[in-house]
Amino acid sequence: MAIRFHDTYTRRLEEFRPLDPAGREVKMYTCGPTLHDFAHIGNMRTFVFEDLLQRHLEARGFHVHRVMNLTDVDDKTILKSRRAGLALGAFTAVYRDAFFADLDALRIKRADAFPAATAPEYIARMIAMIGTLMERGHAYQADDHSVYFRIHTFPAYGKLAHLNLDELRPSGRVSADEYEKENVADFALWKAWDKDDGDVGWDSPWGRGRPGWHIECSAMSTALLGNQLDIHCGGVDNIFPHHEAEIAQTESCTGQKFVRYWIHGAHLMVDGQKMSKSAGNFYTLRDLLDKGYTGREVRFALLRVNYGLPLNFTLPGLNDARASLQRIDEWIARLTEHAAPADKPQPHPASGGDRFECELDEDLNISAALGVLFEAIRETNRELDGGQLSPGQARSVLDWWNRINRILALEPDAESLPAEVQSLLDARAEARAAKQWQRSDELRDRVAELGWEVKDTKDGQKTSRRAKLANV
Ligand code: AMP
Ligand code: ZN
Repeated sequence: MAIRFHDTYTRRLEEFRPLDPAGREVKMYTCGPTLHDFAHIGNMRTFVFEDLLQRHLEARGFHVHRVMNLTDVDDKTILKSRRAGLALGAFTAVYRDAFFADLDALRIKRADAFPAATAPEYIARMIAMIGTLMERGHAYQADDHSVYFRIHTFPAYGKLAHLNLDELRPSGRVSADEYEKENVADFALWKAWDKDDGDVGWDSPWGRGRPGWHIECSAMSTALLGNQLDIHCGGVDNIFPHHEAEIAQTESCTGQKFVRYWIHGAHLMVDGQKMSKSAGNFYTLRDLLDKGYTGREVRFALLRVNYGLPLNFTLPGLNDARASLQRIDEWIARLTEHAAPADKPQPHPASGGDRFECELDEDLNISAALGVLFEAIRETNRELDGGQLSPGQARSVLDWWNRINRILALEPDAESLPAEVQSLLDARAEARAAKQWQRSDELRDRVAELGWEVKDTKDGQKTSRRAKLANV
């Protein structure tokens, strides 16, 4: 079955065929974080969707080369680093490290490269690209010494965002000297240094300054992946002007079509509103970890809504994600108990075929794919209850789970039992052996206070993490 994605450029579902004549290699570029603060869960939703996309393509046999840039110089990073009294590099390093910790907590696969905009080789490439644009008449230096892209030299400007170029022209009422630029919509390629930039700046043929944000991505993507990409992703806020500008600059330099498929993730909203610090509904991953949620739970809450739909994030929704994961965990535990590792797999309808992957083939329809998983859970649980599932079938259902979990990355957290819980459990086992039931119950309560649940089975005490629901 063909893989199809909704392409922002054509506004249609397009069959995915990479540039590679062998149809195997995929070049994927994803706009990364601006390192001026901790990434919020909206940013993380976009990164989780991109991870799902990469993992699904890999499950379908593609070899994905993925690049994610780090924006470590822009207005915000400069301003905030100066306020903090730190050199730009020392300031952004704090958020770069936090970003990588967040990726790990959310089980997001690392890209092949995370180029940083301030690396000398990329600054040199940005300057070279701007030079080419100047030579070809696509760029000009304005009176403010900054260099701008002349959008009317690129007729396709506005096509990605479906904007009418004429609407971007300044109206007659705009006084010309309010703008240094020829056209209000021309965007900066090189920003001339000013005193607020402090010691941040690079020398260029147009004087000291720094690159504009858009040229950073054009330079880093083409440096690492070549002039043509298969997939370029980001959140919908990146469509205009960022990605529109990337197309104009890159294609004006290379003369080749830059990107085959533009795939954008819809935004995350909080309690139906735009997430903002002032509304008090602004969450970073660490805010949620501090509330007692795990990275796995947040991953699932961000992953389970189709990328093209806005995701309304709420704490009850996150509790719901937790409950769904507990169902998965209990199911895996039951299957594992039923199937000895040595059991030879026997076919089972749930584990045959690739229905899960087929749902994802259609524009990454994760909610339908999860429907396939939960249907299998219901069915096999019923069969286990009725003694109708053979150990060999349990084995093949587990093998199926392990296969689809390479895409989901939702395996239970490997959590070791804290020493304190272990010693309470040992004491409880002794109490039970001595038939001291009241003491056994007291010890169970103390274990529960530490966040663990004990179940007595024929093989002894079994522990699992207690559901610690946040107050909502
Ligand atoms: P930034 O750090 O602002 O450059 O953003 C990093 C990524 O997060 C970009 O791909 C943005 O499009 C995306 N993004 C920003 N805000 C949201 C949001 N509320 N929901 C989903 N993605 C977002
Ligand atoms: Zn970008």
